[in-house]
Amino acid sequence: MTYRFETKCVHSGNHPDHETGALSTPIYQTSTFAFKNADEGAKRFKGEEEGYIYTRLGNPNHTAVEEKIAALEGGEAAAVAASGIGAIASVLWTALSSGDHAIAARSLYGCTYSLMAHQFPRFGIESTFMDLRDLDKVKDALKPNTKVIYCESPANPTMDLVDIQALAKIAHDHGAMLIVDNTYCTPVIQRPLELGADVVVHSATKYLNGHGDVIAGIVVGTKEFIGKVKMEGLKDLTGATLSPFDAYLLLRGMKTLHVRVPRHCESAMKIAQFLESRPEVAKVSYPGLDSFPQKELADRQMALYGAIITMELKDGFDAGKKFINSVKLWILAVSLGDTESLIQHPASMTHSALSDEEQLEAGISKGLIRLSVGLEAPEDLIADLKQAFEAI
Ligand SMILES: *Cc1c(COP(=O)(O)O)cnc(C)c1O
Repeated sequence: MTYRFETKCVHSGNHPDHETGALSTPIYQTSTFAFKNADEGAKRFKGEEEGYIYTRLGNPNHTAVEEKIAALEGGEAAAVAASGIGAIASVLWTALSSGDHAIAARSLYGCTYSLMAHQFPRFGIESTFMDLRDLDKVKDALKPNTKVIYCESPANPTMDLVDIQALAKIAHDHGAMLIVDNTYCTPVIQRPLELGADVVVHSATKYLNGHGDVIAGIVVGTKEFIGKVKMEGLKDLTGATLSPFDAYLLLRGMKTLHVRVPRHCESAMKIAQFLESRPEVAKVSYPGLDSFPQKELADRQMALYGAIITMELKDGFDAGKKFINSVKLWILAVSLGDTESLIQHPASMTHSALSDEEQLEAGISKGLIRLSVGLEAPEDLIADLKQAFEAI
């Protein structure tokens, strides 16, 4: 029997303990696993027998999360990692070798950009950063050694969308793979694998866990590719092993994903409309607004519009600084997707690893402010923003 998305959120991957009857998957807080005898140990190492060996190679709490996210994203298999960047690095180290080339969006999560732009060249992996909305330019940028196209949609923090279906075709016609960071959307809103992407990555720190108390990452893809990510990227190259306790918390968070995300989105729409109505605001970027330049693509590709909003104040960063210092309920903090509403300034915070020139190229102006709408009453969030506008 195939279940609906909501049922999978609750049930997929759960492993009740039939010995004690415990409903929730117990925490297997162990580094290693005892073999019954020498033969069993040898068979597990050879892969001739299923079973756990050592937590860096797998743990029942990892398996539970992996089964749930694979079911939700519609992928064959998944791998958990100790952070979003741990997952992204493990995937890219697995997919790319010295001499290879990647094409990536100009606007990316700050550390993903930094990994590809500042670290990979030391190991002979070159990347071209560009506006992936211009598909003809993407085709022109392909090189014989292009192995990967990498994107976020919506992008962090510009909110640019990418036509995943069209980009997947361009990648596949060239024999390259398309990797999509689906952190902003979660599979509630967008399922890149169904649109043709090869691999989905997540910072599970954000909406998937949803409660601001875990750092974690996830990769979803084919059984074959995930096997490689586990044996190469995660086991040897990064060693980014998620702790069993954090995997337990993540599984717990994911059980309510289908309830939380629509509520985040509903409030975000109200707040985006409020911001757009304010005279102090020069520009609001939110895929649900009629003013959003890629509204048509948002309607085609996303089931809901997400809960991240960016805005620019007319008086630039000085007004922005005053504004973020004046909010009382919104919390001045990086990260996103938590129950609490968060506000931050990308140019001096999440994207400060980029030079001024790189920020400009990525579309991050000094006056840009990013809001992550939480689960409080939207009326209270709007009232707080209102008093902050009055304070500047
Ligand atoms: C936060 C984030 C990451 C990095 O994840 P960590 O869990 O902090 O390592 C990657 N991509 C996006 C879009 C993010 O928001």
